[in-house]
Amino acid sequence: MSNNFFYMPTKIILGKDCFKNNKNIIKPLGNTALLVTGKNSSKLNGSLNDVINTLDNLNIKHYLFDDVEENPSLETVKNISLQGNLNNVDFIIGIGGGSPLDAAKAAAVLIKNKDATIEDLYNNPSLNHIPVIAVPTTAGTGSETTPYSIVTDHNLRTKRSICQRIFPTFSFLDASYLINTPKPIRINTGIDALSHLIEGYLSSNANILSDSLAEKGLEYFGDCINVLNNTDLTFNEAEKLLISSTIAGIVISQSGTSLPHGMGYALTYFKGVPHGMANGLLLKEYLKICKDDIKVNKILSYLNFKSLDDFGLFLNKLFLNKPYLNKEDIQNYSEAMANNKAKLKNHPWDIDIEDLIKIYESIL
Ligand code: NAP
Ligand code: FE
Repeated sequence: MSNNFFYMPTKIILGKDCFKNNKNIIKPLGNTALLVTGKNSSKLNGSLNDVINTLDNLNIKHYLFDDVEENPSLETVKNISLQGNLNNVDFIIGIGGGSPLDAAKAAAVLIKNKDATIEDLYNNPSLNHIPVIAVPTTAGTGSETTPYSIVTDHNLRTKRSICQRIFPTFSFLDASYLINTPKPIRINTGIDALSHLIEGYLSSNANILSDSLAEKGLEYFGDCINVLNNTDLTFNEAEKLLISSTIAGIVISQSGTSLPHGMGYALTYFKGVPHGMANGLLLKEYLKICKDDIKVNKILSYLNFKSLDDFGLFLNKLFLNKPYLNKEDIQNYSEAMANNKAKLKNHPWDIDIEDLIKIYESIL
């Protein structure tokens, strides 16, 4: 990606009941939709019902795949596409956190290209996709405004982004689905959004447009950082969190992510650490090695922290159950990161394996 380039084609619709209230814009996408959700939450927070009622109202036929696991696998993507192809769906609606949204995006490629294989998701960037609509119910991944779809490949024992770029056609941001999110989920997803803002702001690919957005996103996040730990949120608090996460998605669409994300994947895959927490465990030490003091200080100031140590203490309190890493784990994960050229190129400064080891050791 070049840093004199900015592209974000997703139409974003915002506000309570925005799906129902703007239903006519989805009509041109077709007569049959596949809805993709996780296992339970969309049935409890009202998002699935809102989508179903609206589609019924529009006479759009719909089918449901409601079995996307966290960190969705290639097998799940394949199963979604089989259901989509069986029913000749015209477009796909991902409802939920980043997992169903990403799974819906990858399945959209396989539904459009009936002869494509799972390998094509990694090798054939020119493949097109059926339209994707996103209805996010976490303030975390920003998948509603990114072109990325991150899928777990159990053969390679890691998570990777597929090679097609899939921006949703429409993203509907209704914060009422996020009001009662359980605390651990809100914290993990919220810190994921925060690390997108931070990594995007400090990325080699950042430019004036992405920086302006990152600064606004950090300011919004700073306004609600203290409510992450509350039991329930007000609509306005939930909406601020959701908007900062969506802004973060726009930022990383331009900039990509760098060290915390690259290093966090091993913690998720091998230690079962939730994605946002994995980034959060690494953020303070990462900021310590970033050499742009002006930007690092601005980040702390937007988030209302007096020092990097204060920020570290805040993160420490959020994540009490840290994973145990032995020397061999740290060595292996650091070597893997040292070979992750895609993420390293987004980090503007030289880095060696000792730096990476130090960042992992800071978890202990
Ligand atoms: P998630 O894996 O989609 O969901 C985590 C948990 O939250 C699930 O148990 C889910 O329940 C629950 N949940 C979702 N919304 C809820 C709500 N409103 N109230 C209560 N519970 C709710 O979490 P995520 O952090 O949003 O997504 C993580 C995935 O996104 C990872 O695979 C990560 O790699 C990927 N990611 C993607 C991008 C991108 O740009 N595409 C960027 C960063 C990360 P149910 O299963 O019952 O729904
Ligand atoms: Fe992330």
